[in-house]
Amino acid sequence: MEKKLLLWDIDGTLIWGGGGGERALLRAMKTSFGIETRLENVDYSGRTDKMIGKMLLEYHQLPASEENLHIFIESYLENLSQEISRGETRIHPGILPIINAVRERKDLLQGLLTGNMVRGARIKLTHFDLWHYFEFGAFADDSHIRNEIAPHALRRGKEKAEYEFPPEHVFVIGDTPHDIECGKIIGAKTIAVATGTYSYEQLASHAPTAVFKDLSDTAEFFAVIDF
Ligand SMILES: [Mg+2]
Repeated sequence: MEKKLLLWDIDGTLIWGGGGGERALLRAMKTSFGIETRLENVDYSGRTDKMIGKMLLEYHQLPASEENLHIFIESYLENLSQEISRGETRIHPGILPIINAVRERKDLLQGLLTGNMVRGARIKLTHFDLWHYFEFGAFADDSHIRNEIAPHALRRGKEKAEYEFPPEHVFVIGDTPHDIECGKIIGAKTIAVATGTYSYEQLASHAPTAVFKDLSDTAEFFAVIDF
């Protein structure tokens, strides 16, 4: 049987965390280093948690040493558990019907490809009861550089399925140009969705395989997968 692999980004793609992740990053800077900062000080969208920490430390002229990054990440994860339960959050339109349908199909496998640390991803997705949909993933634990994470996702997908997915049967689904770029690096098809911080037009300009305003039209989504 021919099989296909779907690799999902989390923030802005599957869910909107109501700013909980952002608040946890800022609280980590405050509690660990006594620094009041703004994420807008760095180009944080689509970056890994660890890279955001590195950029914030450097912006405030603190050494982005392994030790400081470790302190930052531990504090972030601690704060995230609290912040994700505070305020409004949502699963993006169409996600539940799509991931349910994918789970029912023997020819499709879905995993995560995200800049979150694995523990952060689990905290966020457990909050929405989505964690159990994904049988494997690649995370910021694999590398703090987004483009280096994608090959790990592909390799784990192959191991899980015991199947050599041809590149054109791999789909990277995300809400930023970084997702499109990291998908292209592994030769995958890319599906961009404008439910995050980038507009439909901005995403379209990076030439993904397909771009959607949101994924509420399940049939349109599967038309791309089942080409
Ligand atoms: Mg995202």
